[in-house]
Amino acid sequence: MFRSLVVPRAAARSAFKQNSLPKVVTPSAIARLSKRSYATEAEEKDLVIIGGGVAGYVAAIKAAQEGLKVTCIEKRGTLGGTCLNVGCIPSKALLNNSHLYHQILHDTKNRGIEVGDVKLNLAQLMKSKDTAVTGLTKGVEFLFKKNNVEYIKGEASFASEHEIQVNLNEGGERTVAGKNIIIATGSEATPFPGLEVDEKRIITSTGALALEKIPESMVVVGGGIIGLEMGSVWSRLGTKVTVVEFLGQIGGPGMDTEVSKAAQKVLKKQGIDFKLSTKVLGGDTSGDKIKLDVEAAKGGKKETLDADVVLVAIGRRPYTAGLGLEKIGLDTDERGRLVIDSEYRTKLPHIRVIGDCTFGPMLAHKAEEEAVAAVEYIKKGYGHVNYGAIPSVMYTHPEVAWVGQNEQEVKASGVKYKIGSFPFSANSRAKTNLDTEGFVKIITDAETDRILGVHIIGPGAGEMIAEGTLAIEYGASSEDIGRTSHAHPTLSEAFKEAAMSCYSSAIHF
Ligand SMILES: Cc1cc2nc3c(=O)[nH]c(=O)nc-3n(C[C@H](O)[C@H](O)[C@H](O)COP(=O)(O)OP(=O)(O)OC[C@H]3O[C@@H](n4cnc5c(N)ncnc54)[C@H](O)[C@@H]3O)c2cc1C
Repeated sequence: MFRSLVVPRAAARSAFKQNSLPKVVTPSAIARLSKRSYATEAEEKDLVIIGGGVAGYVAAIKAAQEGLKVTCIEKRGTLGGTCLNVGCIPSKALLNNSHLYHQILHDTKNRGIEVGDVKLNLAQLMKSKDTAVTGLTKGVEFLFKKNNVEYIKGEASFASEHEIQVNLNEGGERTVAGKNIIIATGSEATPFPGLEVDEKRIITSTGALALEKIPESMVVVGGGIIGLEMGSVWSRLGTKVTVVEFLGQIGGPGMDTEVSKAAQKVLKKQGIDFKLSTKVLGGDTSGDKIKLDVEAAKGGKKETLDADVVLVAIGRRPYTAGLGLEKIGLDTDERGRLVIDSEYRTKLPHIRVIGDCTFGPMLAHKAEEEAVAAVEYIKKGYGHVNYGAIPSVMYTHPEVAWVGQNEQEVKASGVKYKIGSFPFSANSRAKTNLDTEGFVKIITDAETDRILGVHIIGPGAGEMIAEGTLAIEYGASSEDIGRTSHAHPTLSEAFKEAAMSCYSSAIHF
C-alpha cells in the first residue's frame, strides 16, 4: 500500500510557502518604480490576460476569485478559445450525434428496437452543435460578469513590458496596463506544405466541423486523436475515410501500442481504412477529385489516392503571431513555444505563459490546471500541476483513454513492471449494454506495486480514466484499487478487476 508514502498536500503547500521565492529585479522593474507614465493613460490592472481560451478564461476567473483586478483580451469575438468554439466541444457534439445516428442505423434490431426510415439532416446536426457551442461560450461570458472580470474584445499586442495595445473589434484602439500579464494565445493547425487549406476541400479540423454536405470520400492526413475523431464523425455519416499516418501506429506516440492496435482494428471494422508508415508527398486539387501522392515512409512505391476532401490533421503549433514579442525581447523556441520556467514565468518575470502556446500536451484540461497554478503563483507564491497525471482521451467509439506511462515507455525506462488487464467482454455492464469491445490495462512497478500507467479502450473510457488519474496523483498501488469497492454492475468494475489481476487475480476472467 502506498498511501502512507503520500505527503498530504496541505503540508507540502505550507512547506513550499515558507521558502521565499527569488526576487528578480529587472531594468523594467526599476523603470516602473521610477516612472509609471502609462498609469495616467490606462488604469493598471493586477493581471491582464491575452487570450480568452480555456487557459485565459480560467486564469481570469480564478484571479478574480482571488481578489485581483483582471482584464481578459480576446480577439475571436467569443470566449472559450479553440476548445469551446472549434475544438473539444463542437467535435464532441458531432461525435455524440453521429454515433447515435450510426447506432440507430446499425445497432438497434438486435436490441429489439425497430426503427423506420432514418434520415440525416446535416444542417440540423450542425445547428445542434452550434447551440452547444453558443450556450457554453455565453456561459463563460456570464461567469466573467459574475466575477467582475473586464472583457475586452480585440487583438492585443505588447506596446511595452507592462502595456498592451488592443485593436478593438468594434474599431479604435485602447491601451491596458498590467502589473502581471499572462499570455494564453493558444495554438493553430500545423499546415502541410503543398496542401493549401481552403476549409472546403483541403480542410483542418475547423473545416471538418462545418462541412455543408457529406463528402463521398475523405483522406485524413495524420492518424492522431483529432484526425481519428473527425474521421470517425464523417465515416459514420457515410463518407469513405482513409487515414494516412507517417508512424507505424495510430493515436500518436502517447498511446500504448497494444491499445493502438486494438483501436485500429475496431475502427477498421467500422469502415475506416488505414495506411500506416506512409507519407504524403503532395496533392493536386485542379480536378473534381483531389489527387494525393503518397509513398512508404521509408521510401518505396508511390501511390495516388483520390478524395473529395482532404483533412490535414498533422498536429497543432503554438500561436503567437501579432503579439509583438520582439518589442519586449521574448523569444520562442524552435517549435514556436514561448519559453518559461517552472512557475510559468518568461525571462520578464511579471509575464507568464500557459496553455497551448507553451510546453506540454495541447489539452484543454492541462491548460486549465496551468491557469489555476499560474494565478496561485502570482497571488500566493506556490502552485501545483502534476504533468505525470494528465489524462488523454480519444472520443471515438469505443473511447480510448490513458494516463501515466505506456508500456513502451516503462520498458524503455528499465523499471521492472507488471501488467494487469481485464476485457469488457467479461464485464457484466458491458455485456448488458451489448458494448463489449476493449479492455483495461494497468501497468505497475513490479517491486512496489505503484501504478505507473492506466490504458483503457472501451465504452466510457473517458469517464473511467478519472479513477486512474486520481490513483496516479495519490501514488496508489494496484492493491489500493483492487481493495476498493466498485458499484455493480458498472463498467468501472473492469478497472477494479484489472487492478486485481496486477497483484493477485481477477475474479471474473
Ligand atoms: C478539433 C479539436 C478537438 C479538440 N478536442 C479536445 C478534447 O477533446 N480535449 C482536450 O483536452 N483538448 C482538445 N483539443 C485541444 C484544446 O482545444 C486546446 O488544448 C485548448 O483549447 C488550449 O487552450 P488555450 O487557452 O491554451 O488556447 P486556445 O483555446 O487556442 O485559446 C487561445 C485564444 O487566444 C486568442 N488570441 C490569440 N492571439 C490573440 C491576441 N493577440 N489578442 C487577443 N486574443 C488572442 C485566440 O483567438 C483564442 O481564442 C482539441 C482541439 C481541436 C482543434
